[in-house]
Parts: sequence; structure tokens; C-alpha cells
Amino acid sequence: MASVIESCWLYLITHFNDFQLSCLGSFFLHESAFFLSGLPFIFLERAGWLSKYKIQTKINSPEAQGKCITRLVLYHLCVNLPLIIASYPVFRFMGMKSSLPLPSWKVISTQILFYFIVEDFIFYWGHRILHTKWLYKHVHSIHHEYATPFGLTSEYAHPAEILFLGFATIVGPAITGPHLITLWLWMLVRVLETVEAHCGYHFPWSLSNFLPLYGGADFHDYHHRLLYTKSGNYSSTFVYLDWLFGTDKGYRTLKALKSCKNEAEGKQI
Ligand SMILES: [Zn+2]
Ligand SMILES: [Zn+2]
Repeated sequence: MASVIESCWLYLITHFNDFQLSCLGSFFLHESAFFLSGLPFIFLERAGWLSKYKIQTKINSPEAQGKCITRLVLYHLCVNLPLIIASYPVFRFMGMKSSLPLPSWKVISTQILFYFIVEDFIFYWGHRILHTKWLYKHVHSIHHEYATPFGLTSEYAHPAEILFLGFATIVGPAITGPHLITLWLWMLVRVLETVEAHCGYHFPWSLSNFLPLYGGADFHDYHHRLLYTKSGNYSSTFVYLDWLFGTDKGYRTLKALKSCKNEAEGKQI
């Protein structure tokens, strides 16, 4: 398996230069992962399939879904792509490389875990600041336009917020100067994670059922359906910062009430 991956990588680095792989390759990978993982939830919502796992009963109109996609394409081309190109010299300076040999799985997984922790920390505090009156009104309210989120709304935000999200995502890699393959894998899992957090469905196979520290869709959906001053649940990935700083109290109370209700209904049956 390792040799197959190395052969594929050798093909890439002999046919494309470092800039093409780091900037255009990263952009292509991001767009593919984002739209391929996000679009199925639009169709799921429209078709009404698996609706018993839908967190909210409200359905987004096709116009609202279309508006989200159009804005995303525009922002990805005009904000995300220039941001990727602008951060290229920083990554080069910090020691990012794309040559063989590839790093071991141990190095890759340790670095990605570190990036998740760093991103979650920066995101938590930045997100709390975005929920202050002025910043919410002029910046963050765009992301909250969708009180019933679906996968693609994860990146639907004001350009200034896209820059902040981009910053939180690249701080970890910029510190460690990773191999390009690590950066690509990080981007891939981060995109899948944020699309899942906004997907609007809590399935029996959702990761949050198995990983106690992971927030997931149920956790972030709560953040979207409440008024901005009462939202809570500010973290992007984990739940411990909200627990530590008491910003998940409303969510925990609601969960406890729901489980009491389910228990009482179970006894009646
Ligand atoms: Zn928010
Ligand atoms: Zn959100």
C-alpha cells in the first residue's frame, strides 16, 4: 500500500511543480472534498430521505440552497484561492516540502491531531468574539443566515470570517512545516468534519456517538438554531472548551430534558 501511494506521489511531483501542487492542487482537493461531501445532504433534504435522523423539521427552500451554492463558488474563487496562494510563501518559509520520502503515518496522525487542537482553540475564542454585537451584526450573521444548516452552509460566511477560518486552519501547519501530503490530509479531514457538523442529520453511525470529545452535527446544529446571544457551543470540533468555560450549559440541559422525556415515554410503553 505504502509503495502504491509513493508511486502516485512520484507521478505528481514529476509532472507538476511545487507551486502547482501546493496551490492549485490544494484548491482542487478542497473543492472536490467540499462539494462531493456537502451536495448529498441537499438531495437528502429535498427528497426527504432518512428524515427520521434530521435534527430539525424545517426544510430549506431550493432558492435558499441555490443562493448558498452561488455565493460559495464566488467566495471560493475570490477569497479562498487568493488566500491559498498568499499563504504559499509562508509554508515554504516554514519548511513545507513535497519531495519523497513521504512521512510515516505516525508523524502524519500526530501532526493532524495537533492541528485539530490548535484550530479548535483559535476557533472557539474567535467564534465567541464573532458573537459580540457589532461583529455578529456586520460579519457573523451571514453564517447564521441558515438557522437550519445543511452540509454546504459550513463555509457560507462573510469574506472576513473566511479569512479568520483560514487563519485558524493554517496556524498548526505553519508552525510545524509539514509535508504537503499531511497538509492535504488535514484539509480533507477538516472539510469532512465541518460539513458533517453542519449536515443537519444525526445518524446512528455519526462519529459523535463513538467519540465522547467530538461535537458533530447535533452539537453545532444547536448553535445555529438559537439567538446569537444565547447560542453557546462555540467550538468547531471538540466539546471540552465549551464544557470548561460553561458555554454548553443550555445544550446540556436540553439533552438531559430530552433523555428524561424519552425515558418516561419508554416506561409508558
Ligand atoms: Zn456562530
Ligand atoms: Zn456553523
